[in-house]
This record gives sequence, structure tokens and C-alpha cells, in this order.
Amino acid sequence: MINTPVIDFHAHGGSWGRFGVVDDPNLYIRLMDSAGIDKACINSIFFGDARWANNLVYDRFVTKFPDRFIGVAFVTPHYPEETIKELDRSFNKLNFKFLKLYPLYYRQPSDSDGFKPIFEWANQKEIPIMCHGKDDIDAPGTTLIKKYEKFSKDYPKIKWVLAHGACMPDINSVTVAKELPNIWIETCGSPTPLDGISFAVNHGLVDQILFGSDMPLFDYRHQIAKITTMDASEEDKKKILGLNAIKLLNLDI
Ligand SMILES: [Zn+2]
Repeated sequence: MINTPVIDFHAHGGSWGRFGVVDDPNLYIRLMDSAGIDKACINSIFFGDARWANNLVYDRFVTKFPDRFIGVAFVTPHYPEETIKELDRSFNKLNFKFLKLYPLYYRQPSDSDGFKPIFEWANQKEIPIMCHGKDDIDAPGTTLIKKYEKFSKDYPKIKWVLAHGACMPDINSVTVAKELPNIWIETCGSPTPLDGISFAVNHGLVDQILFGSDMPLFDYRHQIAKITTMDASEEDKKKILGLNAIKLLNLDI
């Protein structure tokens, strides 16, 4: 195993029986230990009540294992009157480190009007946001580069993390990460093509790639193997496994 801090940037909390998602922090810890993961950034996106979901992350995971879990906030434009209040609470009181958005459950794309107050708030506070890059619900004609060009211009202080953006050879994600400032791409996903993650490394993006698992939808053990066994230098693997996340989130590790 490589001797370096390992941070999972993309884990979910909250049970979801239909997909076998078990909401047991002890299970996470056991699997993190067996996969060599030091800390997991954990969000809860499966429920419309964001306050309830963020409390679940805080009470069930972060408070129980403060050395192992990093809280990630979730809000949804479904309840605009509650959103800013909940953002303030998540970052000021619960000390969460970044924001996860999931436009698919809102059934409107991330560049729709509902997200604007959230982005304005995050831009003002310089909070990083992880979100899918392109979604099936995007308006016809939307391209990833056009969408993020506008985001970068309108909200220049947000650091954007494209969830799944580095899991396979994807020239669109790579182009956005190369051409625009403040873009990171994350590795989790079910596709495991040969040299999937190396594609982004070979495009010079090693400082912008973040290891993520999608636990418990995916198992830590195969998601981390994509990094530890890939054709890259040990120095590059260390960046992807955790050093980039530590820098991005200003973690004291
Ligand atoms: Zn996910």
C-alpha cells in the first residue's frame, strides 16, 4: 500500500433499501480500513428535507467518528425559503467542508434558475461545489464547456468538482478542466475501461483529479484499486488519493 493520506471525496449516507444501501457507519469504517482509506467526505442527497439529511450526516457519521468522516452539505432548490438558512447552518454550525448538489432529483439542470441563489451564496463564501457535469436533464444543445464557461464567469470564487468526471476517458470533462480555472474532476463510477483515469493524467491534469468511491453504491475496494494499480507514478497516485483533496479543502492533515 502507498504511504500517503487517502481521502474519499464522494461517499453517501442514508439508507436506500432498493439499491442495497445500508446506512451503517461501522460498515463504512470496516471497509475503509480494509481499503486503506483514512477519511471519507460524506453527504446525504437521498432525501428532500435537507436539514434532516445534513443532521443525519452530522449525528450518525461525523459526530460518531470525527477522525474518519468529513461532513458535506446538501441543499435543494425545492424549498427555496429554507435553502440559505440551511447553507449557513451547515457551514457555520456543523462545520461542513463543501457542498454537494444533485439536480436530477430536482428535475431541473444545474444551470436552471433555482440554483442561482445557492451559487451566489457559495461564490460569496468561496465554498467548493461537487455536482455532475452534464446531466440527462440538461436543456438540448447544452455542452459541458458552455455550461462551465458561464459558471466560471458568473461565480469565479467557486471551486467546481465534476462528480465522475475522471472515471473514464472523457474529452469533454478533460477539456473543461484544462481550459477553465477552478475545475477538479473526481474518479468514482461503474465504468472501468482500461486506462480510464490515466486519460486525464496524460492530459496534464494530475493536480486536479480527486479520488472518490460513491460508497455505498460502489465498494471502496474496487474504486480505490483503479488508482492504486493504474499506470502512473507513485507521486501522481498520492496526489489523486488525497493530497489534492487536502489542498482543495484546506484540511489540517
Ligand atoms: Zn454519488
